Amino acid sequence: MRKPKIVILGAGYGGLMTAVRLQKLVGVNEADIVLINKNDYHYETTWLHEASAGTLHHDRVRYDIKNVIDTNKIEFIQDAAVEIQMEEKKVILENGEVAYDYLVVALGAEPETFGIKGLKEYAFSIVNVDSARQIRNHIEYQFATYNTDADKKPERLSIVVGGAGFTGIEFLGELSNRVPELCKEYDVDFHDVRMICVEAAPMVLPGFDPELVEYAVSQLEKKGVEFRIGTAIKECTPEGIIVAKGENEVEEIKAATVVWAAGVRGNSIIEKSGIEAMRGRVKVDPDLRVPGSDNVFIIGDCSLIINEEINRPYPPTAQIAMQQGELCARNLAALIRDKGELETFTPDIKGTVCSLGEDDAIGVAFGKKMVGGKASFMKKMIDNRALYMIGGPSLVFKKGKFNIL
Ligand code: FAD
Ligand code: NAD
Repeated sequence: MRKPKIVILGAGYGGLMTAVRLQKLVGVNEADIVLINKNDYHYETTWLHEASAGTLHHDRVRYDIKNVIDTNKIEFIQDAAVEIQMEEKKVILENGEVAYDYLVVALGAEPETFGIKGLKEYAFSIVNVDSARQIRNHIEYQFATYNTDADKKPERLSIVVGGAGFTGIEFLGELSNRVPELCKEYDVDFHDVRMICVEAAPMVLPGFDPELVEYAVSQLEKKGVEFRIGTAIKECTPEGIIVAKGENEVEEIKAATVVWAAGVRGNSIIEKSGIEAMRGRVKVDPDLRVPGSDNVFIIGDCSLIINEEINRPYPPTAQIAMQQGELCARNLAALIRDKGELETFTPDIKGTVCSLGEDDAIGVAFGKKMVGGKASFMKKMIDNRALYMIGGPSLVFKKGKFNIL
């Protein structure tokens, strides 16, 4: 009898977790498993703000996929998915196509630009290793060039961060640590540098604990970050951004660097493939399958899970993507063995910690609020745990964060 073929798209938190769990659960004689990813490496999306600011080298945030999968059990294909053809049960890749019996879509997120003019052309986003390297190099180039300009343009050293959600705040935490180093390295006066965070909502980290938010704002302000709250970016230009405050107030902020960190959407392949979605995120069935499909699972940032308590979607996180990956692997094993009912997914949210740089953070974990070194320690433990869950102790030793206070 022909073995069923399981294809996993994306080797991020969700996809790689599914793969490493499947290789333990399913024997080589039970299924062919194929993992497809753009790069031959996995990157820790949750560490990209560090690589973008330049406080952590980009090689520290990635590792070879073949180091964590069993290549006797999983065939790895380095290629980019272009379209999913659910009726034909195949995926079109940049360099060919692959047929499947079961599919797991774990292609992650893309920046949501809300159609704001100029963002795609002139702003950077923290998306992957390539974009992180580009942001770091671009900022460094501005510092390197500043003293060579005859008129020392102040906007060269102005860095705008759009959005004070978790990504924006974590990036500012790293950036505000990196800027003094850059000033020293390139003989720049710290007072010539501006780090401006523009947030449309009336508060930083909307919806998060106000006491913790106050701590974060005060810590970042001490390190030179200016907050423009209740101010929305309306346009991005080659010179900087146009913002609106209230109904009539419009202002231009000149800046050579604009980092857009104001929200994400699911991978555009979802919509391109004609799968019904809200901003690229599919409201999956409780067993994580696409409604109406018995063989396609969608997990991670491309999926949408409703928090029934508040009737709103859970924010997409690595925490949820990994938990979905574990359950998805179990459900796939049950399907290929024809073993009754599939399990249903309920996120187990252990907490949220937002880093404010190397040695500072805010967070709520296991119901307890924490700030400073304690929260930062917790954040590093969470980062190390993610490595452990995928690659065991050896990956933690290779890539883990041990610079603990
Ligand atoms: P990802 O982990 O992003 O993986 C997607 C994978 O798909 C990547 O390997 C990518 O290369 C690949 N891929 C993309 N397109 C294609 C294609 N066309 N073909 C083939 N492969 C493709 N969440 C937390 O829980 N805690 C945190 O502290 C946290 N911090 C964050 C910090 C930052 C700076 C950012 C940006 C996000 C953070 N998040 C955090 C959110 C978290 O990173 C995401 O929710 C999580 O990565 C989603 O997992 P995923 O598997 O869906 O996608
Ligand atoms: P987000 O949606 O959480 O935050 C985006 C912010 O941008 C919001 O505060 C929003 O009001 C603001 N915004 C939107 N449009 C704007 C505009 N035109 N001008 C100015 N501000 C604007 O997005 P994110 O921070 O990228 O996070 C994406 C996901 O990743 C979330 O689910 C988040 O929870 C998760 N994440 C988690 C962590 C963590 O747990 N430490 C870190 C980073 C990201």
